[in-house]
Amino acid sequence: MGKPTGFMEFKRETIPYRDPLLRIHDYDEFQVNVDEQFLKTQGARCMDCGVPFCQSATGCPVDNLIPEWNDLVYKGRWREALDRLHKTNNFPEFTGRVCPAPCENACVLGIHEPPVTIKNIEVSIIDRGWEEGWISPKPPTKRTGKKVAVVGSGPAGLAAADQLNKAGHQVTVYERDDRIGGLLMYGIPNMKLEKERVVERRVDLMKAEGIEFVTGAHIGVNVQMEDLRKDNDAVVLAVGATKPRDLPIPGRDLDGVYFAMQFLKANTKSLLDSELKDGNYISAEGKDVIVIGGGDTGTDCLGTSIRHGAKSVVNFELLPQPPKQRASDNPWPQWARIFRVDYGHQEAEAKFGHDPRTYCVLSKEFIGDDKGNLTGIRTVNVEWKNDDGRWNMQEVPGSDKVWKADLILLAMGFLGPEETLVEKLGMETDQRSNFKAEYGRFATNVDGVFAAGDCRRGQSLIVWAINEGRGAARECDRFLMGKTELP
Ligand SMILES: Cc1cc2nc3c(=O)[nH]c(=O)nc-3n(C[C@H](O)[C@H](O)[C@H](O)COP(=O)(O)OP(=O)(O)OC[C@H]3O[C@@H](n4cnc5c(N)ncnc54)[C@H](O)[C@@H]3O)c2cc1C
Ligand code: SF4
Repeated sequence: MGKPTGFMEFKRETIPYRDPLLRIHDYDEFQVNVDEQFLKTQGARCMDCGVPFCQSATGCPVDNLIPEWNDLVYKGRWREALDRLHKTNNFPEFTGRVCPAPCENACVLGIHEPPVTIKNIEVSIIDRGWEEGWISPKPPTKRTGKKVAVVGSGPAGLAAADQLNKAGHQVTVYERDDRIGGLLMYGIPNMKLEKERVVERRVDLMKAEGIEFVTGAHIGVNVQMEDLRKDNDAVVLAVGATKPRDLPIPGRDLDGVYFAMQFLKANTKSLLDSELKDGNYISAEGKDVIVIGGGDTGTDCLGTSIRHGAKSVVNFELLPQPPKQRASDNPWPQWARIFRVDYGHQEAEAKFGHDPRTYCVLSKEFIGDDKGNLTGIRTVNVEWKNDDGRWNMQEVPGSDKVWKADLILLAMGFLGPEETLVEKLGMETDQRSNFKAEYGRFATNVDGVFAAGDCRRGQSLIVWAINEGRGAARECDRFLMGKTELP
């Protein structure tokens, strides 16, 4: 246990972000560095509870050994903390930056006090490990002679590849994009997760450990699945849930309405290719921007639009504003469905003087000029009523409103993996159009083919993708060897 009285002596603090009015002029990460004492003090608040809910199913999906590394950080034993962290999490530098930290929502201290600053401690341990040179390539000492193809290089594919390589199999990761990382690379923007410094550093380590990466390989299109199956002993599909939910209202084909991922991906690619000098991105400069849909994707659209120099940003939410505190039907240790202010909201507030979100708004029609350019959107307000436990939405009569907009970004979620693989492979899907493969076994209806991450569980989180990639690797190893020692 850190300091027995730490939770009474010290207040929760989190690593601060850079000033919003300064950081909106660049794409560098927004967290600042803090000194060791800051982290030791925060580690000291951990009570090392008898039942650490933070590291169980209600908290951290990869079961990070949180109280153990909190204690080690408090005692300054950073290298041991790093070893403990890598036991359960292949990529703490990703989760420590972008995980919404369900662990903190399940922290026992959080019942009556602000919870332990777990996520910040996680990222500090791993960043220190890299800085000190404690993380170096460790290729497996023995090879099994078995070959595995991993399709998709997001966190699920990377975690599966890392684990299978550790088990001694020869792993090749196939990615259709020109860079490795999935949504770590082309979804989450650079200011949240730096691409060259953080994502590519890990990929380079995996290469040095013997994993092969092939980019520009679109399975089902320019590389056939039959060939992959013929040339390998097993296949792990980790292709994500990349089919975006559309908004098929009148005017959808106007110039100026885009899916969020068209906007975010082009921006990061242009940023990495040319620091945005090639102009190959959708610019929000000088535009009235409306983002439809919230969540991480909506927030990233806000933050990116503000960096372009948008004239205004508004974020429509269909649902009502969540409460400031947990509602009675949402008790600890569940994920708290409360009002949160993320980095993009903070930046909009600093730049335009108000939070960009507006709630209970239903979009009815995109409006354009006679040249087919978007000029605005018509909406109505809605009310939500709870009828015998079922929420029903009703339009509020007379609440029509027209909003001016030159750019509208659709961030309304994703509907499972794209059809290519489903059709080409004869993959069975579930009712939500994800690949059908039982959680824990990860085996699909095709022999020797496993599925993990968003393509199996639906749109989710990095930490769940890592959990599933590890699980699919374990089951794939069992399939190949008849037994497994992978966790
Ligand atoms: C904009 C945005 C922001 C997000 N922010 C956060 C966040 O802050 N925190 C968080 O925890 N989660 C966040 N998420 C969710 C998180 O990114 C995903 O849950 C996670 O990346 C899923 O991992 P995955 O490996 O299953 O799939 P993905 O990361 O989607 O990777 C799938 C990969 O497969 C490739 N692929 C697809 N089909 C083929 C094919 N046929 N052949 C070859 N390659 C193929 C794709 O190109 C892609 O690279 C965000 C999501 C989005 C869209
Ligand atoms: S991975 Fe997420 S849930 Fe797990 S310890 Fe880190 S921040 Fe918490």
